Amino acid sequence: MKITDIEVIHFRTTTRGHPTKWGYGVWGDEVESVGAITKISTDEGVDGYMIGGNKATMETVVKPLILGENPLHREKIWHWLDQMSTFGHRPSEGEIGVVDCALWDLLGRKAGVPVYQLLGGARDQVKAYASTYPNLGGPEVYAEHALACKAEGYKAYKVHAYICWNPHTEAPAPQLPGFPKEDVEICRAVREAVGDDMVLMLDPFGVYTLDEAIWVGRELEKLNYYWLEHPMIETRVESYRRLTRAVDIAICSPEHVPGGVFSRAEWILQGACDMMRTDINYGGITGCWKLINICQAYGIQCELHGTGAPHVHLACAAPEATCRYYERGLLRPGVDYNQPPPYLKAITDPIDSEGNVIVSQNPGLGIEYDWDYIEANRI
Ligand SMILES: [Mg+2]
Repeated sequence: MKITDIEVIHFRTTTRGHPTKWGYGVWGDEVESVGAITKISTDEGVDGYMIGGNKATMETVVKPLILGENPLHREKIWHWLDQMSTFGHRPSEGEIGVVDCALWDLLGRKAGVPVYQLLGGARDQVKAYASTYPNLGGPEVYAEHALACKAEGYKAYKVHAYICWNPHTEAPAPQLPGFPKEDVEICRAVREAVGDDMVLMLDPFGVYTLDEAIWVGRELEKLNYYWLEHPMIETRVESYRRLTRAVDIAICSPEHVPGGVFSRAEWILQGACDMMRTDINYGGITGCWKLINICQAYGIQCELHGTGAPHVHLACAAPEATCRYYERGLLRPGVDYNQPPPYLKAITDPIDSEGNVIVSQNPGLGIEYDWDYIEANRI
């Protein structure tokens, strides 16, 4: 079996996320945007697909490497791409993730087996937490939203409070300084609204100083929060070592550190976090799976960041003790998350009435693309 082509399919779609000059988007009117799907073709007529991909990188860097290779040799291709990335920053770790996910999808389609079973297969559902958009409004808005999520069946709820947003001027703002006191007010209102039996987390998206992170951590302990995620910029590892020593609440990081499994293995040895965090943008399914197993060996959780089919499959390939939650969202009042985007026939993370996300039993990643829409809007 040989790879005969890799292409990035671009198509017109829509979004309501609007980037600001500070790099974090705000919610607004629906505007046109460009979607991408990467397709890897073979001489046996089996293809693999993944959402995302950069056309220029795939054409100039990835294609010359993998054309003619056996697509089932994912580990060899993963190491080649990792070496290229380390050497010249192309492909990026996110682009490696897209290629790797497409290769896992291809294997699953060839074998007629869903990816979570190819990896191991630990369970067919994973507990979800409702993950909010940031900057939804004041504490009462979050409290009401958390109650609505609880009524839908969610057993856990994660607050993104004020991120790149000044709640006093109600306008976009730099990442730092953050608003720790205002964030804690939101967290307190949510806890008071939902009662003691809902699992709660806070993700401030790196907006605090070390002193602020310690203060917020201690406040969250009083409110019985489960984890404090990515509270400071993650390039300052010593700050994280000091934070994890200073507070009892679990620190869940790093979300954005480059180097994938390799740099995260160092974080474990440094004692810089209590729970690990990663996603397919740091080395794809192969990279995440390596890290999940390292975490299992050290007896710490590996909590997957972000939504999408690969994360549902990774979580369901691992036992609950290692990957406890799936991040479902981002959610906001008035927006129906269960409606798929126009280029998909179904969402990739359907949920039951008990707040569990169900993994697809379709071969591969099981993403149901709407090819009529994609072809009609192809660029
Ligand atoms: Mg996060």
